[in-house]
Parts: sequence; C-alpha cells; structure tokens
Amino acid sequence: MAKRDYYEVLGVDKSADQEAIKKAYRKLAVKYHPDRNPGDKSAEEKFREATEAYEVLSDAEKRPIYDQYGFAGLDGMGQGGGGAQYSHAFHDFSDLFGGAGGGFSDIFDSIFGGGFGGGGRSSSRSSGPAAGSSLRYDLHIQFKDAVYGTTADIHFKHNEPCEACKGSGAAAGASKKTCPTCNGMGQVRQGNGFFTIQQTCPKCSGRGTVIDKPCSSCRGTGIQEKSKQMSLKIPAGVDNGKRIVIRGMGDAGENGGPAGDLVVVLHVEQHPFFERDGADLYCAVPISIAQAALGCEITITALDGKKLAIKIPDGTANGKLLRIKGEGVPLSGSSRKGDLYVKIMVQVPTHLSGKQKELLKQYMELENPPKEPNLLNLSKLDS
Ligand SMILES: [Zn+2]
Ligand SMILES: [Zn+2]
Repeated sequence: MAKRDYYEVLGVDKSADQEAIKKAYRKLAVKYHPDRNPGDKSAEEKFREATEAYEVLSDAEKRPIYDQYGFAGLDGMGQGGGGAQYSHAFHDFSDLFGGAGGGFSDIFDSIFGGGFGGGGRSSSRSSGPAAGSSLRYDLHIQFKDAVYGTTADIHFKHNEPCEACKGSGAAAGASKKTCPTCNGMGQVRQGNGFFTIQQTCPKCSGRGTVIDKPCSSCRGTGIQEKSKQMSLKIPAGVDNGKRIVIRGMGDAGENGGPAGDLVVVLHVEQHPFFERDGADLYCAVPISIAQAALGCEITITALDGKKLAIKIPDGTANGKLLRIKGEGVPLSGSSRKGDLYVKIMVQVPTHLSGKQKELLKQYMELENPPKEPNLLNLSKLDS
C-alpha cells in the first residue's frame, strides 16, 4: 500500500505551524491509541501512521527534508518502519499533553494511565503512589433550604490511612527495602512491539520500596474503610445540580498517595406552592371577582414564613403577575435578592347565597353586557 502524505495523515495544511501539528496529532493519538482500541488492527495502523507523521513534521530537521524530497529524502534517517523510534516519539508526550489544561489531562490519564511518561496532571507525582478516588454524594435538600441556606448532616464511607500502621502498610518492626521490580523507580516500562508505556510499578504501587512484613489490618495497602459523618454548610441561593467539593474527603491514596475529593451533588425537592427561576420566586394566589374589580389588600405567607401584605389594584385582571421586589432568592456573594412574583388568579364563585345572587343580578342589569360580544384576538390575550 502506498504511503499517505504526512500532512494528509494529520489532516493539516502544508503551512501548519507546530501548534497545529501538535493539536492534530494529539487528537488522532487519543482516538486511535491501542489502549483504547484493543485488538483493532486498523486503529493500530492509523495510530502508527499518525505517530510517524508527527515524528517527522514536528522535527525541525526532518520536516524541511520531507517538504523538499518527500519520503525518499528521509530514507536512511530511521523513518518508515515499526520498531524503536515509536517509543522515542513518546518522549515528547509530556510537552505535547502536559500543557493542554485539565480537561485534556483527564482524558489523557484515563486513556494512557496516570503514570504515562510524566504526561498530563500526573507529571508532578509520576513516580509517586496513585491518588485516591473522588467520591460522589447525592444530597436531597428542601426547596426552602436551597433558597435560604442550611446545614446538612452527611454520612458516607471513605478510605483513610490505616490506623494500625499509620498508612505505611508495614507491620510493627518490619523493614523497607528497594523494590526489586522497578529498582526503586516506582515505574516500569512496558513495550508491545512498536511503543512503550511507563506504568506505576505493580509490585510497590509506585513507592519504590517494599515491606518484608505487611500490616495485617490493611494487608499492606496502608488504607482502611471508615464511616464518616460531617455537617455541611449549604449556602443560601444554591440551585438544583449544584456541586460542593470538599477537598481531600474522598478516598485516601494507597501507600500515602494524596486523597481524592468528596463531591456533594445537590438535589432540590419541589415545593407545593413555590417555584423558582434563577433568583426569582413564583407563587399564585386566589382572589374574588369583587376583590379584583374593586381592589383590596391581602396578606400571604412568604416562603420563609413571614407575612407579606400585598396591595391589589382595582381592575386587576385574571393571571396578572405582581412583582414584590427583594422577596426572592438571595444572590450568592451579595446582599441582593431576587424578586417574588405573585400570580393573581380571579376565582368565579360557584356557590352563591340568595342574597349574593340577587346583588349580582342587580349588578348585571346595571352593567348591561352586550348579548353579541365582539370576538377577542387570541394572540393578544394574557396567559
Ligand atoms: Zn516497584
Ligand atoms: Zn495497616
């Protein structure tokens, strides 16, 4: 099969700069990496092809030669086959992936494994023990508590450093020696023909040392599961789906690795009478036809239980929204609040006494409504 042009392989222009080449290769490497496509020969071939193209186009010496003479110019420069040069391409990975920001680092870690050649966010601890897992905690809170804030008790289990060995994993009197598998490096290199990856040493979990007598309580892992209870302050104004991250409250890392986080995800219960749109609250209140026509003052119980006097002007239509300023949800980080909207629902009486009927009849005679009213324009009606 004829070799595809390196620019075509990476899908970049001949004038592409190093940044664009790097970006294009990163995308392909993630997509076709063998770890992500086990047993897929075509993905493996695409990965190999992309890596080869990247090796040449990212090389200040090889790229001009390739541009001028094509594949022929590279003959004898160690280009074009399988073998050792692919591991060499990965030397650039910390540079290639390291500066890509947290989002990519995370993907990178999940595909290539945390200990991969110092790439991604693991670079600062690439030879140390792995970090503990972050834990998710789903917390259901009352509508009112989300608006005004509260304190919630949360109960969860996480891994902590073992008490018996203080997290060392060693039994009393045990001694440490250099790990024979990785010679104290904490990392081992594994190759499968055309590329090499660096992984946390399975024998010592990255510590570089092994213990001749492991702690019996934790079987040498240095961690144990513990039930925890803590009270969590929920700030005023939080909404459904809000995450509160408690650093270091997740699982402890094995062998002294850093702890993960506890991520509390808030689920706000519905309220029977109040709804919320951002910082504004909504409720509905019934009034009579006479109250709507003549105007009146009513009192409602607000979400926080306090009594609110509302003045309803004469001639208020059914469905009218009245705004009460500053009676909504507190805006986080400020003393301001949203507003409360009260929807006025005019109720038509259904059980009239004789006297009421008599008065309404008199009223209707005075009003003398047309027997043939004009139709209304539907699109201009208030909802
Ligand atoms: Zn080791
Ligand atoms: Zn222990």
